[in-house]
Amino acid sequence: MSVRVGVLALQGAFAAHEHTLTALGVEAAQVRTPAELADVDALVMPGGESTTMSRLLETSGIFDDLKGRLSEGMPVFGTCAGMILLATDVLDGRTDQRNFGAIDLTVQRNGYGRQVDSFETDIEVDGFGTPFHAVFIRAPKVVAVGTGVKVLASHDGVPVLALQGHVMVASFHPELTADDRLHAMFLKVIGS
Ligand code: GLN
Repeated sequence: MSVRVGVLALQGAFAAHEHTLTALGVEAAQVRTPAELADVDALVMPGGESTTMSRLLETSGIFDDLKGRLSEGMPVFGTCAGMILLATDVLDGRTDQRNFGAIDLTVQRNGYGRQVDSFETDIEVDGFGTPFHAVFIRAPKVVAVGTGVKVLASHDGVPVLALQGHVMVASFHPELTADDRLHAMFLKVIGS
């Protein structure tokens, strides 16, 4: 596949995403500037701290360009903080925190509790023959799902992996395990 997949590298767990994408055989590139964003066909938005990322997206000048690319249909995969930034509604966010409204979800920041409440668990993902080991770190909790959103995995009845058109989100950190199946799934979203 000749696509170039960007990994938003302003802050957070971007290096592991880059590693997984490269291991899957695609060209991965760190994105820190509007010019670097213009040079990629798709984007991964990593976990980290959504309030900090929101601020850095604005100071780097990327926010508006990224909003435009998302509305044009650029495929994107947001994990944890990335999911928060892509959601339509964020509960318990900071008042100055901005989000893209690219997937019809309401998420509650730190909805599973604080750092000490971080946990790991096996989840069943639609279409996977075996469970996926999911690492949740101060994860956002999905509290409402719009009708156009396909839920691909849930934990305790709460959606944790979802897709709407070209926008894929996970409330956990798929880049922190050796399992590359969700990144491979994103490559299929890009290809379709
Ligand atoms: N709680 C963080 C936030 O609000 C997200 C945590 C994570 O990405 N691991 O952005």
